[in-house]
Amino acid sequence: MSDKNKFETNAIRTQIERSQFLEHSVPLYLTSSFVFEDAEDMRASFAEEKDRPIYSRYANPNTSEFIEKVCQMEGAEDGFAFASGMAAVFSTFAALLNSGDHVVSARNIFGSTHSLFMNFFPKWNISHSYFKIDGLENIENLIQPNTKILYAESPTNPGVDVLDLEKLGTIAKKHNLIFIVDNCFATPYLQQPLKFGADLVIHSGTKLMDGQGRVLAGITVGGRELIDTIYRFSRITGPSLSPFNAWILSKSLETLAVRVDRHCENALKLATFLEGHPKVQWVKYPFLKSHPAYAIAKKQMKAGGCVVAFEIRGGLAEGKRFFDAIKVLSLSANLGDSRSIVTHPASTTHSKLTSAERAETGITDGMVRISVGLEHIDDIIGDINQALG
Ligand SMILES: *Cc1c(COP(=O)(O)O)cnc(C)c1O
Repeated sequence: MSDKNKFETNAIRTQIERSQFLEHSVPLYLTSSFVFEDAEDMRASFAEEKDRPIYSRYANPNTSEFIEKVCQMEGAEDGFAFASGMAAVFSTFAALLNSGDHVVSARNIFGSTHSLFMNFFPKWNISHSYFKIDGLENIENLIQPNTKILYAESPTNPGVDVLDLEKLGTIAKKHNLIFIVDNCFATPYLQQPLKFGADLVIHSGTKLMDGQGRVLAGITVGGRELIDTIYRFSRITGPSLSPFNAWILSKSLETLAVRVDRHCENALKLATFLEGHPKVQWVKYPFLKSHPAYAIAKKQMKAGGCVVAFEIRGGLAEGKRFFDAIKVLSLSANLGDSRSIVTHPASTTHSKLTSAERAETGITDGMVRISVGLEHIDDIIGDINQALG
């Protein structure tokens, strides 16, 4: 595929080799293994002298197509596809870190990633330090001789904070750290972290990449050497993406640009509406001028993404009442779906934390996260307006 083509064209025209039937749409290769011509073919395949699939835990034509599309989009050399976003996050860390290593990460990260740092990595003597997103100048004080990875998300889940990727990339380079960005909220259509110095980019394909709430998936892309380390670990430990889900995702990526354009257009309209609503205390959306990192968002993103966070006046009780009054939109924990989704983190995903712990990551009791979907914007705003009462 020519690099001269634009994003939308590459998303559609990246195609694996056709079979003898010259099918137009890529077929689904539901096969666990692949056959050998003879003993020499088998030897050469296992010796990796040939670039061909052997076993679907290692590689499969459908997962290879998905990986190639994402690599094209992110400007990456290579990648590995996982059964979920968390499988990608865990396997990437586990492949690269040794016992005794240390990670420096933003505190504002996906809940399960936070849980990995807190509850599981200590088992393998892997430690971490968190930096505050409004204190990037503090990061260098947290770096230790055993620090190996600098980790961040932007925009963050669920608070839609934006971190300066270029600044983080510069710090990582100076201290020889592997800089990893979870780019799930932006998608490669809106933001390509490798351009700002990231070494690896992780996605949950479950969100906007599929975009229709059907499959769980994850992917890590980046430079060939790091990906090879991740590949060697993952083909043994077995978190690979299923060919069926990869086939769904490759099709979904063909429409990523048009879908994400509309998600962003709807989200900005909703955010603007909420900003003027008397029951709303604050609204956070990367492309609203009132966002604390608006200038950074404008610099590193093409548009603001699909998630809007806002605070209802009246705290936890009013948040629950609003949630119950929603009629059209879905009450769910997912995001990046064609269906708009309303989440109240304080009473659901973050209910196990105390108010003070929630506040540390910017989650207030009346905070609502809306993943703005592809319904008509008048109906989205209409439902939220009536629920605000
Ligand atoms: C959802 C999500 C993940 C985890 O992805 P799964 O596919 O649910 O495992 C990781 N990071 C971010 C930012 C997410 O939103």
